[in-house]
Amino acid sequence: MKIAFIGLGNMGGGMAANLVKAGHAVRAFDLSEDALARARDNGCQTYTSVREAVEGAEAVVSMLPNGKIVDSVYSADVIGHAPASALLLDCSTIDVDTARKVADAASAAGYEMVDAPVSGGIAAANGGTLTFMVGGSDQAFARAEPILAAMGKAVIHAGASGAGQAAKICNNMILGATMIATCEAFALAEKLGLDLQTFYDISSKASGQSWSMTSYCPVPGVGPASPADNGYQGGFAAALMLKDLKLAIEAAASVGARVPMGTRAGQLYEEFAAAGNGATDFSGIIKAL
Ligand code: NAD
Repeated sequence: MKIAFIGLGNMGGGMAANLVKAGHAVRAFDLSEDALARARDNGCQTYTSVREAVEGAEAVVSMLPNGKIVDSVYSADVIGHAPASALLLDCSTIDVDTARKVADAASAAGYEMVDAPVSGGIAAANGGTLTFMVGGSDQAFARAEPILAAMGKAVIHAGASGAGQAAKICNNMILGATMIATCEAFALAEKLGLDLQTFYDISSKASGQSWSMTSYCPVPGVGPASPADNGYQGGFAAALMLKDLKLAIEAAASVGARVPMGTRAGQLYEEFAAAGNGATDFSGIIKAL
């Protein structure tokens, strides 16, 4: 299949490479020359504009920084320029309203579109083990599934347009809050004189257990290997967790939902990032507790 890929950064670079490995002809574009050079090394054909990349494409995949950029790329250069038969898949993490607005504009021009944000970081993007949460019609999901399956281990239909983004921010709001709760419990356990491995052995089998504890323990040397064992580098940056929490808090305000834990998690990640830790893995917030 001819697939245009827009946004070949930390995540998109590996995802595009996995589409090539699956046998697709990938037509890549990014504003960064370095990203384009890496894409060529990975077997993509590169182009000098979005419009050139989407020419004749059967599908368009994007992995871009934020909603404003997604909106401008789709409205200026994808909609009306890619063939109307092309399936549009935006895998970026963006706000629900923009996801719905872009999908509506695409639909008005005769395209089918899904929002398909991911769970899993750079390692999962490179390894083809992402989880995709997909918003769109049944028919669009059926078309999207085999394309996304080449880049991930799970592809889940969350509901209508925007539902993928809604699932993503709700999931990450749980993650942000449980990571902080896990960090503060370990910090308190230490001050109370508990051995941290012993506390892990107890709590990981008791009701305090969570993914933040048993898959991504914020304490070095405790639990399976995690960024804590690597100086809190190379995982999911605190700045990206803050981005997702802000999206969740904004979405909550737009529908009148109360999210006091998510809001507090957002404040704590804001302070952590402002103190120069934006690039630190989000579990590194234990150092601030
Ligand atoms: P990144 O900054 O590494 O990559 C974004 C790429 O988009 C860059 O290469 C940039 O040059 C390119 N770009 C920006 N504007 C463009 C435009 N107008 N046209 C073409 N290319 C353009 O970011 P990333 O870490 O790859 O994240 C991408 C998306 O994935 C974000 O929405 C992020 O929230 C989400 N995400 C990231 C992670 C992670 O661990 N990094 C995990 C899950 C989801």
